[in-house]
Amino acid sequence: MPELPEIQAHAERLDAAFATAPLERFTPLAFTALKTASPPPEAAYDKELVFVGRRGKHLLLDFGVATFVVHLMQGGRLKPDEKQAAKPRFGQARWRFADGRALLLTEAGTERKAGVWVLAGDPEDQAPLLGLGPDADTVDRSQLAPLLQEHPMRLHGFLRDQHIIAGLGRLLANEVCHRARLSPFANTAKLDHDDVAQLAEAIGVCINDGLAFERGLTEMSSSAQRPSNVHHRVGEPCPACGDTVRAVEYSRYTVAYCASCQTGGKVLADNTTSKFLK
Ligand SMILES: [Zn+2]
Repeated sequence: MPELPEIQAHAERLDAAFATAPLERFTPLAFTALKTASPPPEAAYDKELVFVGRRGKHLLLDFGVATFVVHLMQGGRLKPDEKQAAKPRFGQARWRFADGRALLLTEAGTERKAGVWVLAGDPEDQAPLLGLGPDADTVDRSQLAPLLQEHPMRLHGFLRDQHIIAGLGRLLANEVCHRARLSPFANTAKLDHDDVAQLAEAIGVCINDGLAFERGLTEMSSSAQRPSNVHHRVGEPCPACGDTVRAVEYSRYTVAYCASCQTGGKVLADNTTSKFLK
């Protein structure tokens, strides 16, 4: 799934290309695409696109009177629509502008979870943005410490929980834990002052590395292209120490880590499954 750096760089690309263009028409192409009934998308017709922004992993197309919030989920993409075909492959929704250009939301696969919310007023106070934690690129050490204390849980899950900190996903959770030299299973409430400092620094560095990479591209990267030290590198040598990158596998994601760098050499097993293996 695209995470904060990919969504941020993409928002910047779309903003540079489409800001100030008046909206002519919004067309849902799949019945699941539009998640809201009021205000109608027509509220934004003839209004200029003020800016394209980001909140968490959501893209925001702000037309002043209404904001279109777009969540790409796993396989969604929002791209300039050159062909404007009647039934585009994987098509979910289309924004057509007065100058003849268009943006097309597509979602590959069968999950059908990508979506568009049309919101009037402050989008922060409404679903799907309501309840998101602060954006990960704005969280410093002093903000991170109380969040860790208030949410005692495994560090990897903490980093991925959008209600605690918004914008990080599976790749950055793995990369942040590795860079901070902390176990992905570390209890957040037990991290000491130095751990928290390393964690805050790692979040910043990993996001900046991702942004620097992503801003050099003309389209959003695929997960496999993104810079990583442990994610997608299970079985390879750790770039920091040469130990083998290990994994704890879950049905929907993989926790990748280096035992030498992060757990004092301890090989992790998931408690919830390992008891059945004994
Ligand atoms: Zn290592």
